[in-house]
Parts: sequence; structure tokens; C-alpha cells
Amino acid sequence: MTAPSRKAAGWEAIRKDAASLVPPPFLRDYDAERAAFTWEAARAELDGLPDGGLNIAHEAVDRHASGPLADRDALRFVRADGEVEALTYSELARRVGLFASVLRELGVARGERVFSLLGRRPELYAAALGTLKAGSVFCPLFSAFGPDPIRQRLLIGGGRVLVTTRTLYRKRVASIRHDLPELRHVLLVDADGSPEPDTLDLTVLLDAARPVPEAVHTRPDEDALLHFTSGTTGTPKGAQHVHEAVVAHWATGRYALDLHPEDVYWCTADPGWVTGTSYGIIAPLVHGVTAVVDEEELDVDRWYRILAGQHVTVWYTAPTALRMLMKAGAERAAAHDLSALRFIASVGEPLNPEAVVWGRDVLGLPVHDNWWQTETGGIMIANYAAMDIRPGSMGRPLPGVEAAVLLRGADDAPVLRDGEAVPVGAGEVGELALRPGWPSMFRGYLGEDERYRRCFAGGWYLTGDLASRDEDGYFWFVGRGNDVIKSSGHLIGPFEVESALMEHPAVAEAGVIGVPDPVAGETVKAFVELRAGAQAGEDLRLEIIGFARKRLGAAVAPRAVEFVDALPHTRSGKVLRRLLKARELGLPEGDLSTLEARP
Ligand code: AMP
Repeated sequence: MTAPSRKAAGWEAIRKDAASLVPPPFLRDYDAERAAFTWEAARAELDGLPDGGLNIAHEAVDRHASGPLADRDALRFVRADGEVEALTYSELARRVGLFASVLRELGVARGERVFSLLGRRPELYAAALGTLKAGSVFCPLFSAFGPDPIRQRLLIGGGRVLVTTRTLYRKRVASIRHDLPELRHVLLVDADGSPEPDTLDLTVLLDAARPVPEAVHTRPDEDALLHFTSGTTGTPKGAQHVHEAVVAHWATGRYALDLHPEDVYWCTADPGWVTGTSYGIIAPLVHGVTAVVDEEELDVDRWYRILAGQHVTVWYTAPTALRMLMKAGAERAAAHDLSALRFIASVGEPLNPEAVVWGRDVLGLPVHDNWWQTETGGIMIANYAAMDIRPGSMGRPLPGVEAAVLLRGADDAPVLRDGEAVPVGAGEVGELALRPGWPSMFRGYLGEDERYRRCFAGGWYLTGDLASRDEDGYFWFVGRGNDVIKSSGHLIGPFEVESALMEHPAVAEAGVIGVPDPVAGETVKAFVELRAGAQAGEDLRLEIIGFARKRLGAAVAPRAVEFVDALPHTRSGKVLRRLLKARELGLPEGDLSTLEARP
């Protein structure tokens, strides 16, 4: 089928045409629907289980597999060679039931944690949902992590099971296995009859299993997912999410992503991060739509081929990816029929207004930015399909979500008056905060109650982001209130990188910051003070970069290393990253020397 080029016809005309073909968007009257919305009503849209139980796997898969959607494609995997492997809801349910059965046979208990270290392949999806079905807790790891981040997260999470491939096991896990006494089983998805020592062949276990018919009747507030995220200091934080998060995944899938029953939906995020789980697995399946999964990494022509060939209607992607498409040039898009697309959304980093406009001009649709973070478990602020976009703005809060911008004191903490936080006026910058109570809110940082408590003040959850709100209630992202780095959409804790660098024998101390990058948003840069006797030079610089890559993985390791005679410190002796950043950017240093970033 050749559709008219959106560009040639003008996108407004095409949209008008399309309006007769596509269902009307949700949230047409923002204020009225927001006023009428309740989380209870959203929950009533789901099935639930006897005795008030709620299980994500039941809502996402089982109820569809036993209903009219049984034969519909749930997941379509696009292989490296372009071949597509589709799993219907009933086939996915079978595989999910088999994985749950394997866990049961291995004696993995309800609440115990099952980790994955896998690329986007069918086994990952069956493992995630099978773990939830069995009442255990699923924790995805980014498959580009090196051994250090993997070990740390498995240790903090007390991982009982790890599902991975032979190659990843050999390269990243075998060497740290002795440090992980709680890790009882490593399941290889591609053992091919000959697993590595101390691992099990998952295929053999699945062949011997009989699908578990029904999901465990988990309580809505029972742990379901563990997602690691990074702070400025200390170890990675394991944000705990519960089964009732699925209510928010359903509601945000409807309002922020505008999912309708016939949609073919593509979320480009890696399931090793929260977006890839909440919106790459749960939200589309809860809505019973077909989700496309690309098994490969970003490739401009491949992506356009997938959008066109799979007739993707709703596309959820990220600014770094959009910037890479923009860089490749509009003509690469023009070669494809993208007429099936009707809604594009983006998350994870600031979406530059040019990307919104580029979407409109080149893809025929503007890009709708939305905002959330690991701790919120789901989209909190969004530009909606039915409303005008304000390019550069993150949009307005979802129904059921109350957001505010709070005044910060000299110590960067919110100012409290009579125990109440103080909102700033329209257009002023403060800390973005959310009123607790939405279902996908994290319920703790695993084993770190104090760190969790510090995220709340005056009745608000503090996001750590700086923002402003305009007169019309649109929120605008200003920056991070702490030192964490966002590179290609991945949140990187500078402390984790500094710690790895300091294990190199020549490194006395390191300070790590994000430096602006036109495509990745930020890249990681390390300032390194050498030990006495070490020779600064190109050889050592490359050696340190290689050392960090081996330990942390290429996505986390610094791209640049600069040697300095002495690192600046706060009064309490912490490396003053903000000063390093100010110097790097040529900004005035002001009174930064006394500031200490919040964790
Ligand atoms: P993560 O927890 O890894 O998902 O990262 C969440 C952080 O990414 C947020 O706290 C923001 O700093 C940033 N972020 C997410 N979405 C947006 C957005 N639409 N605009 C700007 N920054 C964003």
C-alpha cells in the first residue's frame, strides 16, 4: 500500500483525514476528566483475583489468553535479519505459565527475587511475567552492564535466580559468582544441552514443566518489581514496586499513550530499565494491544522499516533516539510509508523543542513529551493526544496525580512553614514534587528505610528534579537538583563510576560529571587525581578508560578522562562535582565551594 506522503500533503491535512479513521483521543476535556477520575474507578477496569488479589501477570496476559484476544499477537519480535516471531496472547500465557512452573520446581518462594540479564528476546518477557505470576519479584538488569554493577545489584537485591545467556554469563557473571552466595540458580536461555558449570539449561527445565494455570493471588501491596536507580552518593538504590502498580500502567497507557484496542505499539526502551518494563511489557499487554520488540540496537533505516513494516500506530521513544534520527536526515524517513503512525511520545530526558517540530515536519506528527522516573513507576506528567503541545514542556499531570513546584532553601531542601511545603509562583524554579498516593509509587528502597524517608517532606514526594510551572499548569523541566548523569537516557550515579575508577592502582581520587553532548544529552567525564609516582599521559588515560569499561560496561564508563593536580572538595571532604561542572562549562564558580549536593 502506498499512502500519500504526510510531508507532501502537509501534516495538518493528513491529521484531519486520519481523524475520521482513528478513534478519538482520550482526555479531550482535561479538567472535567481529571475531576471525575479516581484510582478506584481505574482499578475497576481490571479483573482482579479472588479475595482482593491483584497480579500483574494475570492482568497483562492470562485474562486476555482466556478471552477474545487469545489469538491476537501480544508481542512481535523483529529479529536481526528482519524476520518476525509473533507470540499470541495464548502462546505468551503458555510460556509465562511454564516459567512460573520452573520457579516453583526450583523452590523459588513468593517474594524472592529473580533477576534477568538479557537483551530484548522472547525469554526475557516470559521470565518477567512468569516471575510475577509465581508471586516472586522481578528485577531486570541492563544487559550492557559490566561485572561491577551486576554484582552490586545482585548483592543488594539478594537475587536468588539469574536468567541470562551463555555469553553474558561467561563475560560478566562467572568471575563474580563466588561473591554471590545467595544466588542459587543461574538459568541459561541458550545452553543448547550443555550448560556452563554451575548453571542450568532453561530449555530443558521448560520442556519438563507443565504450565502453572493460575497466578498467585498476590495482594495489591505485595512486592512485584525491583528497579535499580542511582543517586549522587552511595550504592545503587533498589526501588520496590508492588502489584497494584498495574492500575497506573493501565491508566497512563490510556491517557498518556492514548492506547486503543487496535493499536500496534512500539516502545524502544530497553527492558533493563524501568521504561522498558512498565511501558515495554506491562502497559501494552494490560491494554491487550500488540507490542513490537526490536531485538537489535538503534539503526536509522531499520527503525523506519519497523515503523512502516509493522504499521506501528503508537510509538514511545526517547530524545537521544530522536536526535539520532534527526541527524541522519529527513530523506531517510521520506523513503518509508509511516502513515499508520498516529501518536508519538518521548520520555527520559529533556525533549528539545526542535525534536517536537521535526516530528511534525518529517514524521507528520509532533512528539509528545512526558515525564516520570524509576520511583514513580509510571508516567506522571504528559502532553496529551487531544491537547495542544507546548514544545519544550513536559505537559500537565495525569488524572489522579497532583504535582507541585516547591520552594527550596539554602540547603537545597524544601522550605517548610508549619510543617507544610511552600509552592513557588508561576514561572519560578523549585523542586518538582508529587503528592503520594498513586498506585505505582515505589514503596521503599530495598534495605534503606532512611534513604526512602528522606525523599518525603511536608506531605510531598520530592523528585530531585528542578522545574517550573506556567500560568496554565504546564510543567517545564529545568535540570536535576543533584549530580546524577543522564547519558543516552540511562541514569548514571557518579559515585558508582568514581568507585570503579579508584580501584585502578594509579588513581588516588576521581570526580565524575556529565558534560553536554548534542546527541546523548550528556556523556560521562572523569577528572582524575593520580597517585604519587604515576605518569599522566595518553597511555595511562586510555588504560583507565579501558579499565572502567571492563568493570562498568561501555554505557556507564567515562568517555573522557582528564588528569588534574588536585580535585576540589566540600568542607566535609566530598569531591565538589558541581565546581568541576562549572569549570567544564566555563560558568562562574560563585559560592559553589560551600554547597553539598543532596544524595
Ligand atoms: P529514570 O529514573 O532513570 O527513569 O530517570 C528519571 C529522570 O530522568 C527524571 O528524574 C528526570 O531527571 C529525567 N527525565 C525523565 N523524563 C524527562 C523529561 N520528559 N524531560 C526531562 N527530564 C526527564
